[in-house]
Amino acid sequence: AHIEALRAGDEHTEARRAVIALHDLTQIRKLEQMRADFVANASHEIRTPLATLIGFIETLRGPARDDPDAAEHFLSIMDDQARRMSRLVNDLLSLSRIEMNEHMPPAAAVDLTDVIDDVISGLEFKAHARGIEIEIMTDPTLVPALGDPDELTQVAQNLIDNAIKYGRNDSRITVRLFRTTEAPRPVGLAATLEAVGFSVTDQSDGIPREHLPRLTERFYRVDSARSRQVGSTGLGLAIVKHIVNRHRGHLAIDSRVGEGSCFTVYLPLAGRGNGRAPVAAAS
Ligand code: ADP
Repeated sequence: AHIEALRAGDEHTEARRAVIALHDLTQIRKLEQMRADFVANASHEIRTPLATLIGFIETLRGPARDDPDAAEHFLSIMDDQARRMSRLVNDLLSLSRIEMNEHMPPAAAVDLTDVIDDVISGLEFKAHARGIEIEIMTDPTLVPALGDPDELTQVAQNLIDNAIKYGRNDSRITVRLFRTTEAPRPVGLAATLEAVGFSVTDQSDGIPREHLPRLTERFYRVDSARSRQVGSTGLGLAIVKHIVNRHRGHLAIDSRVGEGSCFTVYLPLAGRGNGRAPVAAAS
């Protein structure tokens, strides 16, 4: 009976192993499918501006040859398309670099006020061109975040740039810096609810609720015609999400149709005991 029980135990273990192997296989297939989808999407995104460029080169060599006004107009479209393609390739490279380092959380102390100030100085001109004002709300209790200054700049840049692109003319964008003890999810490796971060709130048409869970997927766009018109690559929020993940932080997205959207980034605090595994207690 003892041997029978052992055999039954073996069979049970075998069955469990088979289930785990099958589960792994499903996981691998899913990843393979995601990779294939990504390559297909990326190729499509690159092919579109490329086809436009080739078309216009032919036109410039042929029908528009002796028409300087038309030529100038076509060259400006070609310029837009070439720049779009360049942004796309840069974003793809960014994404792959961040993904490669995702298992290594960055460890510098980053002053978020500096990050936000820099990004706003660079984007103010673009905002003003549409009559948009950017307001900063600081927090006297703010302390540095644990992170990578360049990557956090990229996060702020993408979120504020989106707020300008999708915000209404003559509206306001509010960037709020904060420190909290009530982050919606644990942040950092020490898994505390204490966090620092910033939110970007715009005044826009907002995003219908059903789109929110998919917003950070690569190439996902709510309104592709509108997004293309504003020169988007569809990779901005995917980059934001991966950077925030690498920081062991959290990204919260909230939006109300007809009012606007709010993107909030929670990050671990730099300093003792935060963002790192707990240090063994001193004796
Ligand atoms: P994109 O380069 O297309 O802006 P993102 O990944 O940054 O790519 O954003 C994905 C999509 O999410 C956008 O195409 C847009 O439809 C929507 N979106 C992002 N930010 C906002 C915002 N602040 N307001 C409204 N829609 C937004």
